[in-house]
Order: sequence, then structure tokens, then C-alpha cells
Amino acid sequence: MSSFCEDRVVIVTGAGRGIGREHALMLAAHGAKVVVNDLGGARDGAGADAGPAEEVASEIRAAGGEAVANTDDVSDFAAAKRMIDQAVDEFGRLDAVVNNAGILRDRMLVNMDEAEWDAVIQVHLKGTFAPSRHAAAYWRERSKAGESVDARIINTSSVSGIYGNPGQTNYGAAKMGIAGFTIIAARELGRYGVTVNAVAPGALTRMTEDLGSGGELSEEELARRSPRWIAPIVTWLASADSRDVTGRVFEASGRMLAVAEGWHRGPTIEPVDDPTKIGPIARELVKSARLNAGMNGKDMDGGLD
Ligand code: NAP
Repeated sequence: MSSFCEDRVVIVTGAGRGIGREHALMLAAHGAKVVVNDLGGARDGAGADAGPAEEVASEIRAAGGEAVANTDDVSDFAAAKRMIDQAVDEFGRLDAVVNNAGILRDRMLVNMDEAEWDAVIQVHLKGTFAPSRHAAAYWRERSKAGESVDARIINTSSVSGIYGNPGQTNYGAAKMGIAGFTIIAARELGRYGVTVNAVAPGALTRMTEDLGSGGELSEEELARRSPRWIAPIVTWLASADSRDVTGRVFEASGRMLAVAEGWHRGPTIEPVDDPTKIGPIARELVKSARLNAGMNGKDMDGGLD
């Protein structure tokens, strides 16, 4: 076992399956003590089952690591506090929270119902806010008590949000919101010794298995789409070594590791107070501005890279 994350206590949400499971296993393999959170529901968020979190925690312990399971709903404010308290009670401290839990309820906007919107916003956005909020309060308290804090929040965004994938206004809005949350929380929490970054992953998991042709992929392609490719950057971000990097969104998959660049002000002119005169001026501004990125992350509307 490596000592890269030795003595780091890390919570990984949604770690019973997919990408979060790989985060938990790799963090533990590098010496971190892990709280493995997972609700144990169906892909659309329905139901709950203690199995997945406990299975991953047992797997870590069987390999000689330290882990405990937690089956709280990350989007429940009081439950999220219990999860932070559990890490401190079990391991004496908390160093990083990896907000990874997520669900999908894809639908074109014209057909999306209120429950589909609410569920996705609740799990992703509130499920990022609630653990982060309680962890931040814990770290601020430590910092104000004169302790040296070197802590991390690592969120999970998506190219669906930051670049814009049709059929996912709910999910994309949440994931773009998480990117914004990351930048703002980074600016707020730096003074307490806390960095805040995000990953925008790409992998074949239960969440994405219906979206592509999983059954027809070669061994090589399956290996490239493995969720394990996201874990190295997350493990590094959780380590003490990453303390100088904050407010960034990293795209990570078996194809690439990249930094997604945020919004910047483009071409600018003096304000115009007559709406009838704005047309040609606004068109000229748009013409001289960079195009929004497509789903390939470049200045065009492309497919998935
Ligand atoms: P996954 O295999 O479905 O895993 C998501 C995990 O989140 C599940 O283990 C699920 O637990 C857990 N979860 C859901 N709601 C929860 C809640 N309220 N409280 C606690 N845990 C909860 O999907 P994945 O692909 O690994 O996704 C992980 C993250 O990456 C998500 O945030 C997703 O949006 C993001 N992402 C994935 C991709 C991709 O290509 N796979 C791309 C972009 C972003 P149960 O099902 O056991 O309840």
C-alpha cells in the first residue's frame, strides 16, 4: 500500500458503484481512511439498500485498508451532517469530501416533469451543498481554533453541464451549477486552508450504460472507458500535494486529463439604451466572440470526443 494519502480521512459519496467506488478503492490503496457513502438505490434514485457501501468498505478492509460504510442520503441536510460527524468520530478528523453521488432522469425539456427536475437538482446540487456546508463549518472551526487545516472539497461536474448536452436540462443545470459552486466555494474557503476543485468525468458505468453501445465494445475500448481513470486525479486532489490548486474543473477519462476553462468576458462595447439599434451591434459582438464549446469541449458544436 502506498503512503501518498496516509492519515488523510476522506468521505466519498455515491461510492458503492461506478466512479465513486473507484475513488474509494484508490484512495484506500494510497493509505487514506475512507467513509464509503452510498444510498443503495436504483439508477433513477428510487429505493435504498445498505449493500453497496458496505461491500466497498469490506473490500477495502480485506485489502488491509481502513473504511466504514455510510448509507445516508447526501441531499438530506441533517443526514449530511451525520456523515461528517461519522468521519470525525470514526477516524478522529476529516480531510476531504468527494461529492460524487448522482442520478439521471433524462428527458427533453418539453416532456420533463416537475419530479424529474426536482430529483436531479436535489441529489446533485443539494447533495453537493449539504456535505460541503457541514465540512466547511468543521474546517473553519478547526482553523479558528489555531489548527493547521489542509482540506479538500472535490466535486463532480460534467461536460453535459459545462458544454451542454441536449436532453439533460435538469442534469446539465445541476452540473453547471456545481462548476459555479466550486469556483465560489474555492474563493470563500481558501482562507481556512480548504481547496475546492471539481472533476468532469467520462466513463462507462450504470449511469451511462444505456447511452452508448456498451455490449459491442472491444476489450481495449472497455478498458479506456473504465471508471478507474477518474480516480488518479481525485486521489491527487485529496492528497496534501494538491494544496496549491483550487477553483478548477478537470475533465478526466481514459482518453484525457484536461482543465476546463471557465466563462470569460468576450467582446465588449459601451452600453446601448435603444433596443431598436441593438440588433446589428449585438450580432457584431456575437460574430467577434468565441463560439460556445460543443460537447467535444472545442469551439464548435461537435459530438462526444
Ligand atoms: P453510478 O454508477 O450510478 O453511481 C452513482 C452513485 O451515486 C451510486 O452508487 C448511487 O448509489 C449514488 N447515489 C445516488 N443518489 C444518492 C444519494 N442521494 N445519496 C448517496 N448516494 C447516492 O454513476 P457514475 O457514472 O459512477 O456517476 C458518478 C458521478 O459522476 C455522478 O455525479 C455523475 O453525474 C458523474 N458523471 C458521470 C459520468 C459518466 O460518464 N459516468 C459523466 C459525467 C458525470 P445507489 O445507486 O446505490 O443509491
